[in-house]
Amino acid sequence: MIAKQDFTLIGAGIMSATLGVLLKQLMPDAKISIYERLDKVGAESSDAWNNAGTGHSAFCELNYTPENEDGQVDISKALKISESFEVSKQLWAYLVKNNLLPANDPFINDIDHMSFVWGDENIDFLKKRHTALTAYPIFKDMLHSENFEEIREWVPLMMTGRNKDQKVGATRMPIGTDVNFGTITRGMIAYLQSCDGVEVFLGHQVEDIDDRKDGTWEIEVKDLHTNEEKTIHSNFVFIGAGGGALKLLEKSDIPEADGYGGFPVSGQFLKCNNQDVILQHEAKVYGMAEVGAPPMSVPHLDTRMLNGERSLLFGPYAGFSTKFLKNGSYFDLPLSIDAHNIFPMLRAGLHNLSLTKYLIEQVVQSPEERFKALEKYYPNAKIEDWELITAGQRVQIIKKDAKEGGVLKFGTEIVTNKNKTIAALLGASPGASTSVSIMLSVLNECFPMQVKSKAWQQKLTQMIPSLGRSLITDEKLCLSTRDYTTAILKLEDK
Ligand SMILES: Cc1cc2nc3c(=O)[nH]c(=O)nc-3n(C[C@H](O)[C@H](O)[C@H](O)COP(=O)(O)OP(=O)(O)OC[C@H]3O[C@@H](n4cnc5c(N)ncnc54)[C@H](O)[C@@H]3O)c2cc1C
Repeated sequence: MIAKQDFTLIGAGIMSATLGVLLKQLMPDAKISIYERLDKVGAESSDAWNNAGTGHSAFCELNYTPENEDGQVDISKALKISESFEVSKQLWAYLVKNNLLPANDPFINDIDHMSFVWGDENIDFLKKRHTALTAYPIFKDMLHSENFEEIREWVPLMMTGRNKDQKVGATRMPIGTDVNFGTITRGMIAYLQSCDGVEVFLGHQVEDIDDRKDGTWEIEVKDLHTNEEKTIHSNFVFIGAGGGALKLLEKSDIPEADGYGGFPVSGQFLKCNNQDVILQHEAKVYGMAEVGAPPMSVPHLDTRMLNGERSLLFGPYAGFSTKFLKNGSYFDLPLSIDAHNIFPMLRAGLHNLSLTKYLIEQVVQSPEERFKALEKYYPNAKIEDWELITAGQRVQIIKKDAKEGGVLKFGTEIVTNKNKTIAALLGASPGASTSVSIMLSVLNECFPMQVKSKAWQQKLTQMIPSLGRSLITDEKLCLSTRDYTTAILKLEDK
């Protein structure tokens, strides 16, 4: 017999988990199936060791605030990302308050978010960025300094051994966070598994998706342990397969998928093994990306808090693999190329020669060259204290473009069909931090009438109290929302 579902979520990462939780809260009777090809939940990009764990709030990430040709710093993206992270914290606080996420497994920790630059141009940019951001309540508490000694007090490890004549600039936001997105994902899926009408199938790979005459979807799934295949019919499908999403989107044959391609970039970090050094640094410090580097390659020296243990990472360095998932296949990239996307992919390649050059340089660099990048942030670093680890795989979106032929995109994109019965999430930036806002966009796009209904509005506002109001400009709301999430998520009141 063919199983019938209201909702099928492909992949058990933070995106599917978040959408599943929102749907189950809004429609307690909904029948939901989640299929995950690995034997563990949240084990691809959402796992703590596969991402940098930064609660992206645009406090420290300089690539979210580009400088326009007229010298003005454009903060529009930063405002949006910062607000989105506050939205995520509200959903997580709701889940903790209602015992739907375990409170004894701390998944979010306080850690200062800092930006650090050198050179007149960069110092000037940072000052302008600080002035522009602090005009808004959401960034009000950001500190700025060009004083060597003051910055040494903030980050002694980075300033000891540095030439005192070097001009430096820094900003510091005391309410930054480090987040274990893997713990959140596993907590959310565990809650879903406890709900009536939800089934989670691990070790099950979705092989094909086809539309049916009645507007529903037929999904072919393979049990990877028994090789048994089964068919499911579903009213709605969410492709939350991370790097695997492009392949499944292509299989759905929806015309809206035409012209999309993907380009994989893997992340590597240097991990410190010297406990004395680890304890001397307590911040996430982001610098300036190199010329030609993709935005997600902004170097950062990062304190992480994982399962109560402190660690120190530097990176990311870009690696190249043709896999679309860390646990994927080397055929992922070649098999994703088809008649509909070959032209946009070639054009995007031609327009991004500096990126290609950067990636080649990254891949062929020696351990000593890699170490030199770290020394710019930590002058007294010793090579023997650091080991190279491989994090997750990102698939950057390549998209057909009327003017350029094809463009490389660094953000996320939701692709849906005309009937709004299937949605796929492509891209991975700013990522897990903004997962709640991204999944709210899926609801808005695919269920617009229900979202407007009184019942959904009431429930959504219960989960996200600031819904529909601006945390960017409404100072009182911003402060009270932060007080609320700080108390429930047991963050420090700063
Ligand atoms: C190096 C790196 C650093 C990052 N740093 C940050 C950061 O600091 N802050 C931040 O907010 N974000 C960061 N991100 C981004 C963040 O990790 C991702 O945006 C987020 O985890 C994506 O979640 P997801 O659920 O879409 O994908 P994933 O967590 O990858 O989950 C997708 C799941 O789908 C499964 N799957 C794939 N194909 C199939 C199939 N056919 N059938 C069944 N299952 C399938 C996979 O096995 C996987 O478990 C980083 C990412 C990388 C790679």
